[in-house]
Amino acid sequence: MPGIYIHIPFCKKKCIYCNFYSVVNTKQIEEYVEAVIVETWRAEPLQKVNTIYFGGGTPSLLSVNSIQKLLYAIYEKFDVDTEVEITIEANPEQCMMEYLATLRKIGINRISVGIQSFNDEILQYLGRTHTGIDALCAIENAHKAGFDNISADLIYGIYLRSLQDWKNELRTVFSLPVKHLSAYSLTVEENTLLHKKISQHKTLNINEKQALQEMKVLIKEAEKNGFEHYEVSNFSIPSFRSKHNSNYWNGTPYLGFGASAHSFTGNTRSWNIANVEKYIKTKQKNEPCFEIEILTPENQYNEYVLLRLRTKEGVDLKHLEEQFGAKKREYFFQQLQKISSQYFIIESDKVSITKVGLPLLDFITEKLLFSIISDYL
Ligand code: SF4
Repeated sequence: MPGIYIHIPFCKKKCIYCNFYSVVNTKQIEEYVEAVIVETWRAEPLQKVNTIYFGGGTPSLLSVNSIQKLLYAIYEKFDVDTEVEITIEANPEQCMMEYLATLRKIGINRISVGIQSFNDEILQYLGRTHTGIDALCAIENAHKAGFDNISADLIYGIYLRSLQDWKNELRTVFSLPVKHLSAYSLTVEENTLLHKKISQHKTLNINEKQALQEMKVLIKEAEKNGFEHYEVSNFSIPSFRSKHNSNYWNGTPYLGFGASAHSFTGNTRSWNIANVEKYIKTKQKNEPCFEIEILTPENQYNEYVLLRLRTKEGVDLKHLEEQFGAKKREYFFQQLQKISSQYFIIESDKVSITKVGLPLLDFITEKLLFSIISDYL
């Protein structure tokens, strides 16, 4: 079933590694919410929706009232499944007991807390605005507020952390009532403060060897704690996979609302303007504010392979053939022969990446994708 994503592009401060679209000036937050509501009114109706996701930015900067208004608008416009998963991303410093309890009451049933680390020195380095204690309290408050479905985000590959420190952080997170963990390797994106600092030799670049070691420890600790490694960066207690993100990886259509939000229909992808002010103005003037790309069959094949290789289940060969034709399946197999067999496994007509192959995922994926200028077809 399709999902809905709402982008809340406001943050208290920009983290050094972040290249998501967000602004630190929250003055227009209320006006922005109204504009998003207008966008939902004008959206094409979807089939039944089974996930709603407030992402950011920092959605926990919104008042409960604003979140409720957005939910009303969605329920009014779309047929929402009774088992809907409604997630909010929250930063620990906003996770006060009363706020969370009210969010729970208005129907939010999943919370994803941006912890990143429990170590204050690391948090400061990353430009986060919370402390390790705030992170612990956030999870505790969420649990007490009635959230059963709690996810935590961590970042690894930070030079300030020893392997032992990372093990300790993982032990801490697994001792908390979390059912889902998203753990990302720190990456240096252009137009971030981290990129600038590294270029100016003010901080160290990412040590790939360290990141790899930490990834291995992460996988081991997650397994030990009963967490299933179901996507490259995501782990969960089996029945607590993120439904919303699983929709992305399964190629299910979704609608995105808000500045910079993306939408996907299966054969088109569109993205809204990444500018709060312009976004609000276009909504007030009833003007379109997005660009659209028609996906060619090759684009669609690439997208499917790229996303599915990230998942535990991998590429479904039957689906590949049904969806994209026998020639594409043949191409996939031909390309697979160029990769060492230790990096992938074929089981029940599905091709997935082995633990040994995971660190080389980008390289493997590239080999299996269609070069758009290929004259194969
Ligand atoms: S990482 Fe999150 S909190 Fe930090 S700037 Fe990016 S969106 Fe905002």
